[in-house]
Amino acid sequence: MPAHDVLIIGAGLAGQRAALAAAQAGASVAIMSKVHPVRSHSVAAAGGINAAIAIDDDWTEHAYDTVKGSDFLGDQDAIEIMCSEAPGEAMHLEHIGVTFHRNEKGELDLRAFGGASKKRTAYVADITGQAILHVLYEQLMRHHLTVERFEEWFATSLILDDAGHCAGAVARDIRTGTMEIFDAKSVILANGGNGQCYKPTTNALICTGDGIAQAYRIGCPIMDMEMVQYHPTTLAENGFLITEGARGEGAHLLNSEGKRFMEKYAPNKMELASRDIVSRAEQTEINEGRGVGPGGQGIFLDITVVPKKRVLEALREIVNIGRDFAGTDITRDPIMIRPGQHYIMGGVKTDVDGQTPIPGLYAAGEVACVSVHGGNRLGANSLLDTLIFGRRSGEHAAQRGGELAMPHAPVSRLREDTDMIAAILDRPHDGRRISEIKAELGTTMNEYAAVYRDEDGLATAHDVVHRLKEEAASAYVDDRGTVFNQDVLGALELGYMLDCAEMTIVSAIDRKESRGAQYRLDYPERLDEEWLKHINVTRNGDGEPGLSYSDVTITKWQPEVRKY
Ligand SMILES: Cc1cc2nc3c(=O)[nH]c(=O)nc-3n(C[C@H](O)[C@H](O)[C@H](O)COP(=O)(O)OP(=O)(O)OC[C@H]3O[C@@H](n4cnc5c(N)ncnc54)[C@H](O)[C@@H]3O)c2cc1C
Repeated sequence: MPAHDVLIIGAGLAGQRAALAAAQAGASVAIMSKVHPVRSHSVAAAGGINAAIAIDDDWTEHAYDTVKGSDFLGDQDAIEIMCSEAPGEAMHLEHIGVTFHRNEKGELDLRAFGGASKKRTAYVADITGQAILHVLYEQLMRHHLTVERFEEWFATSLILDDAGHCAGAVARDIRTGTMEIFDAKSVILANGGNGQCYKPTTNALICTGDGIAQAYRIGCPIMDMEMVQYHPTTLAENGFLITEGARGEGAHLLNSEGKRFMEKYAPNKMELASRDIVSRAEQTEINEGRGVGPGGQGIFLDITVVPKKRVLEALREIVNIGRDFAGTDITRDPIMIRPGQHYIMGGVKTDVDGQTPIPGLYAAGEVACVSVHGGNRLGANSLLDTLIFGRRSGEHAAQRGGELAMPHAPVSRLREDTDMIAAILDRPHDGRRISEIKAELGTTMNEYAAVYRDEDGLATAHDVVHRLKEEAASAYVDDRGTVFNQDVLGALELGYMLDCAEMTIVSAIDRKESRGAQYRLDYPERLDEEWLKHINVTRNGDGEPGLSYSDVTITKWQPEVRKY
């Protein structure tokens, strides 16, 4: 039975950064991932990472932009930590081998990004996530004596000891179907987000909210789940992301009249207003009949205004995406995009060291809610969030472990999860297919819990999710084997996604105002007096979501009207 000071579930940027920090602090570490680590969704991050490293920039400006971007729902103590530690983290990445783009003078080059008052996004062409993830993986190899890697292992649930502390997890070796208990003094969740609750989404198939749901199921509060980011530029056909880097390099958004409609919505920042505002503007143009393409459901992103040489140097991945997935040469023609689900601002509630209210349980990265993004995340702040709070969690968990004896989880927990999986494999072939339920969940969320919301639509979504939960309980799997049985894991993931979707819906129904990504047509104003607070969802005794509230931490910046 594996036993470690720190068990990290997830090997994207947050998990790998946490593993390095914990190993460097002297802890024994296990890092687990349901796919090979460099296939984590972090590998898809394109545009870059924010840090106030320019001579004319200052971390306090980065912090203010982040607070404003969050529509004043972000916790300012956490935002101050993230932004003040950003330059050091970016330099650290350079020193360990990330080849950030440099300008002609040989200095680190920075690109403009949405909601930022300065150019402060460091980048490696449009493969920044891949570049960082591969370097971190190389670095992990240096610690092979203290960091044990469990690649293609799937955590099925978290374990609490008698005192209510997190004492490890149960996991399945995907290659063989063997189940094991992992004892650990501390567990860091780094499972990423739950974008797959939506269809389409920019997120990889593995982003199914496993960590959020598993934490919820052991009684951990989950915060800000109503805040779901729609990215302004995803391919109209299939949801693929066209990085914000395109607009950062100067691309325009055009409606069917050929107009740069952002003039109307954000005259100062235009296409580089924050994502919630640009996505809403696009949706308004579409709803009012000024969309382009079939059924007027799209908007044109015109990258031809960016010099071709620059496009080929700094945006080469989206040249490929445009050609391969939309049949468009973006250096010659505008490409059709629309707002699409991209990121979950909410997640497992933590403090600035990644600690959740459950002793021994930490969370970092997209699975967590510190909350540095509040109602709306600024582009290129997520990679930063994963690294800063990944590192802080790793350091804190390592230090905590030094003071504790190794817990021993009861073997009965192994039996429970083994039996649960056996029961899924035994289901008769008369229920619905998992893929059908998942597709209905995705299209329902995309219809009713999207850029614009209202009470009726959210209530409809709530009913659908309730029904889908019942259907999921009898959904059958075709593969009954043990070797690489992704089918049975898909059944578990569906359960996690339904929990996450339910949390988003109940929180969105509860928040009777419009703030950040939550725009309620029936409550179009931001109401600070009543709603300047976080919504926390905690599972109650009946297994239903219960709601409570926590204060927003304000340090320097009082809420003000948000204009771009
Ligand atoms: C297309 C795209 C482009 C983006 N571009 C940018 C950008 O330019 N800048 C920016 O700041 N942000 C960007 N983002 C957001 C950012 O990439 C993500 O928020 C961030 O990378 C998430 O990292 P993470 O470490 O939290 O999780 P992930 O990278 O998603 O990793 C999750 C890990 O958890 C593991 N896991 C999950 N469940 C289990 C389980 N049950 N058992 C075992 N392992 C499990 C997975 O295998 C994986 O290793 C982008 C996102 C997308 C989708």
